[in-house]
Amino acid sequence: MEPKITPLRDDTSFSFACSPALSCFNACCRDLNQALAPYDILRLKNALRLSSGDFLETFTIRRIGPETGLPVISLNFDRQTDRICPFVTPAGCRVYRDRPASCRLYPLARGTSRNRASGRIIEHFALIREPHCRGFNHDTAQTARAWMRDQGLEPYNRYNDMFLELISLKNRRGRGRLKPERERLFYMALYDIDSFRELVSQESFGKHPPVDPADLPILEPDLISDEIALFALAHAWVKKTVFDEPLTLDPPPSHETTR
Ligand code: SF4
Ligand code: SF4
Repeated sequence: MEPKITPLRDDTSFSFACSPALSCFNACCRDLNQALAPYDILRLKNALRLSSGDFLETFTIRRIGPETGLPVISLNFDRQTDRICPFVTPAGCRVYRDRPASCRLYPLARGTSRNRASGRIIEHFALIREPHCRGFNHDTAQTARAWMRDQGLEPYNRYNDMFLELISLKNRRGRGRLKPERERLFYMALYDIDSFRELVSQESFGKHPPVDPADLPILEPDLISDEIALFALAHAWVKKTVFDEPLTLDPPPSHETTR
């Protein structure tokens, strides 16, 4: 049976609670097609103590999105066994503290658009009711806002919105694929942060394309060890190198919600 998807305001109440005691425990961790955003990968590779390159090679598949023409990275599910997530165990998710944003959000979906007048990002929510999910039988009252807070989604939303800025930049340029070298740089900087760190460590970094250190005060030795600063730089660098936009470190986007 198809899931029932209902638009939801961020303050509308719904009944839901998830627990290992439910008969559906782990049922939502199979039969998935799960795309991973760059911040999902950063969290997962650290949780598993892998380099980003090893994580990508072991746990993901890569294809080109038909709409965007950009690389799309998905978890490589075991097709022999009902497309089970590689991280699910009988006791639950083995990367629970660092699980991807879509796992945290479920049973919600979150989309964004931009208010052209204010430049702020507008959040939209929907509730996904799947027949196998028993969480809706629980009478615990939730709202989208409270659910996101409880599930630790704040940094995920912040960095995913930063990434979506790049996607919309590409969408404004047209549907086709990037030139192969630009596609490689987009993938490496955003998804393979440890390779990007190696690039930043090279003396030639900042010369091609030229980076004015005054514009980028974080181009300092600390950057190599501050992974989140490096991650923000990767987004700014992709803006310049792949999309020929000025290299500036934008503050994280601010939000408003649909009412
Ligand atoms: S209640 Fe829903 S989210 Fe929780 S384990 Fe069951 S199927 Fe998954
Ligand atoms: S990452 Fe964890 S929560 Fe998400 S599908 Fe896999 S096992 Fe389930």
